[in-house]
Amino acid sequence: MSKHYILTNATITNGFSFLIENGAIEIDNGRIAWIGKSDDLRHSEVRTIDLQGRLVLPGLLNPHHHLYSALATGLAPIGPTSNFNLILENLWWHLDKTLDAESIFYSAIHGLIQSVKYGVTTIFDHHASMNAVSGSLELIEKAFREVGVRGLLCYEISDRMGEDSLEMQLDENIGFWESHRQNNQIQGMLGLHANFTLSERTMAMIRDHKPEELPIHIHCGEDRADFQYCVDHGYAGPVDRLNEFGLLSKDSFLAHCIHLSGKDYELIRGIQPVIISNPESNANNNVGAMDIAKIQKYVLGTDGMTGNILGTMRSHFLQRNGKIADPLDIQFRYPAELIECYFPNAGKLAQGKRADLAITNYIPVTEINLGNLFYHLIFGVQGQPMYMTIADGIILYKDGVMQTIDEQEIIQNVKNAVRKLHKNYYE
Ligand SMILES: [Zn+2]
Repeated sequence: MSKHYILTNATITNGFSFLIENGAIEIDNGRIAWIGKSDDLRHSEVRTIDLQGRLVLPGLLNPHHHLYSALATGLAPIGPTSNFNLILENLWWHLDKTLDAESIFYSAIHGLIQSVKYGVTTIFDHHASMNAVSGSLELIEKAFREVGVRGLLCYEISDRMGEDSLEMQLDENIGFWESHRQNNQIQGMLGLHANFTLSERTMAMIRDHKPEELPIHIHCGEDRADFQYCVDHGYAGPVDRLNEFGLLSKDSFLAHCIHLSGKDYELIRGIQPVIISNPESNANNNVGAMDIAKIQKYVLGTDGMTGNILGTMRSHFLQRNGKIADPLDIQFRYPAELIECYFPNAGKLAQGKRADLAITNYIPVTEINLGNLFYHLIFGVQGQPMYMTIADGIILYKDGVMQTIDEQEIIQNVKNAVRKLHKNYYE
């Protein structure tokens, strides 16, 4: 397919500072070459795609995902799941110990396809496969490259497998980060599972080995048990413990932030790490909800529940009875800033930037402007799959069909991997 084409007859918005009706976007060689009114188009000979009034959004970000859980649907826990620790022990930790190279790759590719269908073009993934640690991030990277999505990848370190494994987990993170610095599609972070699965000794070891610029990505105060563990070890809470070990900075990614102390909130206000709330996952695990009066700047993730980030915003909106401050900043402005931090020309729907776009099936028929855009997303788009998803100017998905990979062939391979994974899980 030509790398030069024009999308016409669209409502185009970056989600927070402009919205153009009857607009057009010219895409050339991976970048947005021009944005304007369809009537002002310059290149009549270039291939055009008429979007018939659809809504063009920036490619969406899922800042907290677990692609390793993408093949878990239908799996029964191997024991009781009456509290958060038991949910981890009897489902997720047992699943991650069962993963091998084949199931890591196909789990990632399946989860990525399910994300692209919902307009997601950048994913921050938090991976675990305790019996297949070394090389796991490269397998996931291969899946990202096949599907054509950007990502920050990490391995979630936890000391539940003993000391030998810890070193391997740390090496997997640091090695991957070092070999992918400044990469324009895939980079690394330092994944940590959660305070309550990292002993004092492990935290000290991580502090001593972590390169200063390597950002951490951790579950923080997800359940009361995480908070209590930190208090029992002499800290004010989970954020305080990270800070005391010198692991907290403005580049840190803290997922959940539900069970925190006054000092934890103060540290967040002062240091301003990236906070990721995961409303559907929190409801599913019955762990409570983040206090959005105390934490006002945050982004939304799916925590492995789904690839559907606008659907997650819809859940968030409904859980809070429609009372969310600055929803367009949470959905578009902050994600654009975050993506741009790691991938300098991506994230923003603007002339000269990489062309990452999500185009809805929804065609607005009522008045649309920045003031009511959010309600068009909640009541119009409704978290449905997109019409088209474009990353780096390449059309990845259009009208129900993946464009650059053979989804039917992949589904057969995914099913084969699932059969083996589920058999091993129950053995
Ligand atoms: Zn998570």
